[in-house]
Amino acid sequence: MDTVSIAVAAYIVASLLFILSLAGLSKHETASSGLTYGIVGMGVALLATVALVIDASDEIDDGALTVVLMLGAIGIGAVIGLWRARIVEMTGMPELIALLHSFVGLAAVLIGVNGHLEESYRGGSLDNIHDAEVAIGIFIGAVTFTGSIVANLKLSARIDSKPLMLPGKNAINLGSLGAFVVLTVVYLVLDSDSAGQHVVLAVLTLLALFLGWHLVASIGGGDMPVVVSMLNSYSGWAAAASGFLLSNDLLIVTGALVGSSGAYLSYIMCAAMNRSFLSVIAGGFGLEVAASGDTDYGEHREIMADAAAELLANASSVVITPGYGMAVAHAQYPVAELTAKLRAKGVDVRFGIHPVAGRLPGHMNVLLAEAKVPYDIVLEMEEINDDLSSTDVVLVIGANDTVNPAAEEDPTSPIAGMPVLEVWHARDVIVFKRSMAVGYAGVQNPLFFRENTQMLFGDAKDRVEDIVRALA
Ligand code: NDP
Repeated sequence: MDTVSIAVAAYIVASLLFILSLAGLSKHETASSGLTYGIVGMGVALLATVALVIDASDEIDDGALTVVLMLGAIGIGAVIGLWRARIVEMTGMPELIALLHSFVGLAAVLIGVNGHLEESYRGGSLDNIHDAEVAIGIFIGAVTFTGSIVANLKLSARIDSKPLMLPGKNAINLGSLGAFVVLTVVYLVLDSDSAGQHVVLAVLTLLALFLGWHLVASIGGGDMPVVVSMLNSYSGWAAAASGFLLSNDLLIVTGALVGSSGAYLSYIMCAAMNRSFLSVIAGGFGLEVAASGDTDYGEHREIMADAAAELLANASSVVITPGYGMAVAHAQYPVAELTAKLRAKGVDVRFGIHPVAGRLPGHMNVLLAEAKVPYDIVLEMEEINDDLSSTDVVLVIGANDTVNPAAEEDPTSPIAGMPVLEVWHARDVIVFKRSMAVGYAGVQNPLFFRENTQMLFGDAKDRVEDIVRALA
């Protein structure tokens, strides 16, 4: 068997491992084996690619230099990847993921430009197909590149997360798509390597860079999770387009897996946030709603940790709804301890997880799993919502937007229509946060002023530890 046959077989093995990885990642119980499949699959894919390049290096000029450059790039990439993975905070994951998507986009643009300059295709019967792959690959790559950079800057709060509202933004998006189709046709018709073709490709690239920026800049605050997952999908399609250009089957399969799973995740998130999937793809949605004004909701009530502990000790059912604040405070460990203590006293404790709680899909599930909270008491929003009216005490730990009744009751709210955890139906609600500040979407939460709600101010970790001590 020659190297090429072995590499093709390795690519099939890697594709299967990636599919097993996605299947594993869809459940808590199998998530870590899913990750292992993914790591092994990527290792197999890298080794096969390195073997292919070394094999082909004999036949090209500067073959040795090509191999050295490739190994150097892998080494540098591995060092940077390991370093970033070690230092990144869980709360900084979405912006890191957005940045990584931008690299996929940039790589697709560079591969497209390389394909455009490549001479070996000129004059062949597949000339037009090759040119179409170049144009489409560069377009998707460039949209992903600038879109992901804007998402990274917004999520890391280095630019304002408010939506950009250019007049006629939908017309701009649709017009850009139409212009892309026209430019692609002109690119195919023009002679290869002519000055006109270079200019058309440059204009097409600039247009796609602009469209990526505009699509994501038009989307604000609370809708960012869907955007991150949408960009994940775009980066997959960009990789698949590069796979066609490089005639690399593994890149096509992997790109299609990332593209379709990202699109499906976006679809699930849109359903969870009551947003229209099609309008997300078109960029900018649900933004015509006026922001709710400075409504006076009255006074809020406070509770101290000792009194909260007493309330919990006398309850028979408790539901904990964690949010971004639990991640910031690293409160998952004392929360797990509190859960164990209450369960030991015979209290029925369960968790209600909103699909976009925290700053990335599955954020809360990961933190709770890390703190060894049993999976079977961690329920999804739709599984727990009906039980909240018969619950004695709900602990809202660092959550805000995901428990905001305005989403259901105030049609003028920027989060109107987003399904939320209906914690206000419980007998008592205790909200752990440091102040009366707003959450990610920047809207006030009338829950804090309800008669059955009491605020427990301070860092979530400190306050939960106070309660654990008081329960002893
Ligand atoms: P929010 O971001 O709405 O609110 C978090 C709350 O935690 C804040 O009100 C803050 O109040 C409090 N908090 C912060 N630090 C601490 C601390 N150390 N101790 C105690 N409380 C703290 O959280 P949710 O999880 O409810 O909602 C998530 C939001 O993020 C949604 O709007 C969602 O759309 C968005 N989003 C979600 C993503 C995802 O994929 N899950 C990705 C990007 C955005 P205070 O400052 O007063 O303490």
